[in-house]
Amino acid sequence: MNVKQHINEYDLLILGAGINGSMLYRIATDSSKKVLLLDKNDFASGSSQASGMMVWGGILYLQNFEFNLVRKLCKARDRLIKYSKHVYTRRFSYTFLKNSERSFFIMRAGLALYRILGLLKRGKTKCFANNKLPFNWSKTLFKGGLSYEEGFLKLSDSQFTLDWIFRQNATESKAYNYTNIQSIEWEEKENHFKILFINYEKVKTTVYAKSIVNTCGIWADNVNKQFNIQTKASHHLSKGVYLLLNNPKTQKDAFVVDMEENNDTLCWVPWGNTIMWGPTETSIISEKELPVTKEDVTFLLDKLNAKLKNKISKSDIINVRTGIRPLVKQNDNEVKYSLDLSRKAIFESNKKIPWHTVFGGKLSGGLEFSNEVYYKIFKESPNPINFNSTVQAPTTNEFYNGIELPDVDWTVKNTQVRCLDDYLRRRTNIAQWIPVGGLGFKNEYLHDIMKISELIHCSKSEAEFDFKKYTETQRKERTTWEN
Ligand SMILES: Cc1cc2nc3c(=O)[nH]c(=O)nc-3n(C[C@H](O)[C@H](O)[C@H](O)COP(=O)(O)OP(=O)(O)OC[C@H]3O[C@@H](n4cnc5c(N)ncnc54)[C@H](O)[C@@H]3O)c2cc1C
Repeated sequence: MNVKQHINEYDLLILGAGINGSMLYRIATDSSKKVLLLDKNDFASGSSQASGMMVWGGILYLQNFEFNLVRKLCKARDRLIKYSKHVYTRRFSYTFLKNSERSFFIMRAGLALYRILGLLKRGKTKCFANNKLPFNWSKTLFKGGLSYEEGFLKLSDSQFTLDWIFRQNATESKAYNYTNIQSIEWEEKENHFKILFINYEKVKTTVYAKSIVNTCGIWADNVNKQFNIQTKASHHLSKGVYLLLNNPKTQKDAFVVDMEENNDTLCWVPWGNTIMWGPTETSIISEKELPVTKEDVTFLLDKLNAKLKNKISKSDIINVRTGIRPLVKQNDNEVKYSLDLSRKAIFESNKKIPWHTVFGGKLSGGLEFSNEVYYKIFKESPNPINFNSTVQAPTTNEFYNGIELPDVDWTVKNTQVRCLDDYLRRRTNIAQWIPVGGLGFKNEYLHDIMKISELIHCSKSEAEFDFKKYTETQRKERTTWEN
């Protein structure tokens, strides 16, 4: 029997459009479910815009003997490499410092085990000599290294995330950014939730959903609290910062080097015209600690300069990148160093009402994990995903000295660009690849930014307001860590 669904009733409401929410959205819509995805801010504006963009099997977690997690992450990595146009294989080279405490043979054995856990899908481990190190690195400090294969994102983590939401064929499902949820009530008789939210245009809308999944990343705990949902798990917050440095084009290979603290490592990863150097790993209490500080920058610069022949300074930094890892915490045990915490994702369902919460997780393992989440909610396996249904934006060469960018009008109409930050930071990599968030070291791109703002906004005054807000924010953020 076909039960008629109310026009505003959804099979699933997903709160939070980071990688976890977006992948689940795609899986559920490809399985003919009617889904509503709501984000408080822009899609992918949380941790999913600040990652290291590695689609990896989590080799670092072998040191905590997390074999099952690594096996799962390897499987997820290899599936994305095979099917997603966003992911390509890339060699990462682990470099041995001369004073390193890590044994070459143990590392080699670890990499062999890593490859076996990945069912030998990735290329063989290779030794390399010091002459393969980045040109400015002080070769005398190293004794070669070992390179192994992982996946890496072609464009960016936020564009990868957005691509799970927007697709060619219209479905009954809907995704909205910049929404504000006013209330959620469980209606026992009707067996559904009643949700009142205000959309971007300030229109109040009432919808119904049979189930809710909270995929709000580091904000998930607060959202649960707001709607009186008790959970056993919660999040530990770990801040991670990268510096973006100039890439003199010759650099293609990615390197990993010991941090020489806490058994951790730092990565040197070419990305577009930049090199990403980091990340830091700092336990924090609240998202208020997200902005990059002088201490973050000094830490990373000192670690890098100790390895360079020609030292670099703060003024060489093109941009910074900061985010918070949502790590699962099962109880109130004290966390010594957040790398000791598992990077797995877990799923918790409320016993009384169909409200579920996702804790932790990574870009890399998101797809497999979201399949599991789907299975647990709908008690059936999802359909295979159609990887080819993503939308391709037309391009423009009008801005930034003719570089190819997605057409502004098109992104506004098709991907809900509401302000400059959405376009410059998440629909393109301008805010990361061009100095000072796209302004240029000498403000040489202000004119381009204003023209883009005029295309985004209907009125001149709105365009000017957004331009002022964006440029002031970029300058202020830089001043916080530079001066
Ligand atoms: C420095 C760093 C490096 C990393 N490197 C890697 C890597 O190389 N590879 C990898 O696989 N992973 C990496 N990660 C981990 C990965 O980025 C995160 O685990 C992942 O992005 C988390 O995604 P999420 O969907 O859970 O959360 P988020 O991306 O944070 O999404 C949560 C969303 O919820 C929204 N939201 C918040 N409150 C509400 C509300 N009340 N209502 C509705 N929506 C709300 C937010 O706006 C946000 O869009 C890294 C993380 C960091 C910080």
